[in-house]
Amino acid sequence: MANSLDLIVIGAGPGGYIAAIRAAQLGMRVACIEKWRNPAGENVLGGTCLNVGCIPSKALLASSEHFEQVREHFGDHGISVSDARIDVGRMLGRKDQIVSKMTSGIAYLFKKNKIAWVKGHGRFRARDTAGFAIDITGHGAEGEAVRETLSAPRVIIATGSKARHLRGIEVDNEIVCDNEGALNFATVPERLGVIGSGVIGLELGSVWRRLGSQVTILEALPEFLGAADSGVAREAWKIFTRQGLAIELGARVDAVAIKGRGASRKVRIDYQDAKGEARKLEVDRLIVSVGRQPNTDGLGLDAIGLACDERGFIPVDAHCATAVDGVYAIGDVVRGPMLAHKAEDEGVLVAEILAGQKPHIDYNCIPWVIYTAPEIAWVGKTEQQLKAEGRAFKPGQFPFSANGRALGMGSAEGFVKILADAATDEILGVHVIAAAASDLIAEAAVAMEFRASAEDIGRVCHPHPSLSEVMREAALAATDKRALNM
Ligand code: FAD
Ligand code: AMP
Repeated sequence: MANSLDLIVIGAGPGGYIAAIRAAQLGMRVACIEKWRNPAGENVLGGTCLNVGCIPSKALLASSEHFEQVREHFGDHGISVSDARIDVGRMLGRKDQIVSKMTSGIAYLFKKNKIAWVKGHGRFRARDTAGFAIDITGHGAEGEAVRETLSAPRVIIATGSKARHLRGIEVDNEIVCDNEGALNFATVPERLGVIGSGVIGLELGSVWRRLGSQVTILEALPEFLGAADSGVAREAWKIFTRQGLAIELGARVDAVAIKGRGASRKVRIDYQDAKGEARKLEVDRLIVSVGRQPNTDGLGLDAIGLACDERGFIPVDAHCATAVDGVYAIGDVVRGPMLAHKAEDEGVLVAEILAGQKPHIDYNCIPWVIYTAPEIAWVGKTEQQLKAEGRAFKPGQFPFSANGRALGMGSAEGFVKILADAATDEILGVHVIAAAASDLIAEAAVAMEFRASAEDIGRVCHPHPSLSEVMREAALAATDKRALNM
């Protein structure tokens, strides 16, 4: 295979596997190197997203939401259920089956597209006559024997990211966990601590809260969900704290210690609260969710003269080209939001560039989603960003509490907020906090890609009754305050 490849992709997460598939569709001979092994020791494709990220977390969010619905909300529909219980083992088994179905689906797609799946760790050896030589070892551990060397004129680095840990806080993924352990608790912890109130902390904290844990989230920043529109962040704060998530902002963790032995082990967290006062929190399990860091360990970037930036990311231009001609990098290992669909789009972009096409990504049109209940999703600029830019805008907001479908579903919390240019009515940002916000936001992303005005959405017929009517009403409100049902 060594001399016949057009492209080597390192990493088979959503960035790498999609890049490999698109390149193969475009006629390239592609090999994809992937080292991931699942807990059963099997080599699997799909990366963080399929194995320990998007897919398993959404499976647990769905299971835990059903449980909470049964316990808290079925009564509203006149349905009584006594003695509802959660079988955590079965819930985890369902999640694992979904993961397995998805990862074997990628293996099928690799076969179908004649992509060579090279199992092991890839490391640049050197530039050679065929382009770039990459050594493959078992797992990438220091000193491992090289099993084979592949060469190709083009390489896409799609090595993704791993959980960032805090200095002095050892993650054993049993009692102190990152995302990997937190997706696999064998029992529901009575008290759960979470460090970091970002996307992962909120989603995983919500899973275990719904199943019965008393959850406390410690967040270092003084502001909640700073990346979201401030109106949405305020609404989310109200709803999540009412649901029972205890969130402490401005909390500085000083030390974490494990107390006791065996099953009765506890975690003690010493921290300073927002006023600088010393506090203690004792929990049965702790999730450390303080962000993610790019995976470049053992990649041998030096061998081809490539350096990371000060935060460890591989610098790239708007087309994901690195400083080394022929080497591209995509997904979590480069700048931009750490989102699977962003990684996928960059994979398609690079494959099409290599085939001589001229694709483009508008990063402003990439939707962000947090899969809490209600979900939070947005695309484009927030109100605070527009204010900082000094751009004049018109807001239009409409609540789900005035939508018949939302009331029927028992999901009437939240709103859609559309920010349109004050002069041209062009949509600049759309913010949704609601059930199914992840699906609703797709309409806004399409509209923004087409540079639609708020009036464009307001004039499009939307199905009744549906949650999407709220998008239309918010658009009408932004256009000239003419929401119809308000
Ligand atoms: P990854 O998925 O990290 O894949 C990189 C792959 O490269 C891995 O399989 C790794 O084994 C392999 N690799 C690394 N180095 C080497 C090497 N030297 N040789 C061979 N192989 C190598 N995003 C969303 O958009 N929606 C969500 O709902 C969402 N939920 C998430 C929930 C959790 C708990 C987590 C942790 C993340 C979530 N994300 C979500 C983020 C999403 O998972 C990432 O943005 C996405 O996986 C990035 O894709 P990637 O291809 O860049 O990297
Ligand atoms: P995300 O990047 O969405 O995964 O979010 C990570 C969150 O963790 C952010 O809200 C950070 O402010 C927060 N965070 C980072 N470091 C710490 C820390 N040492 N203590 C508490 N929160 C932190």
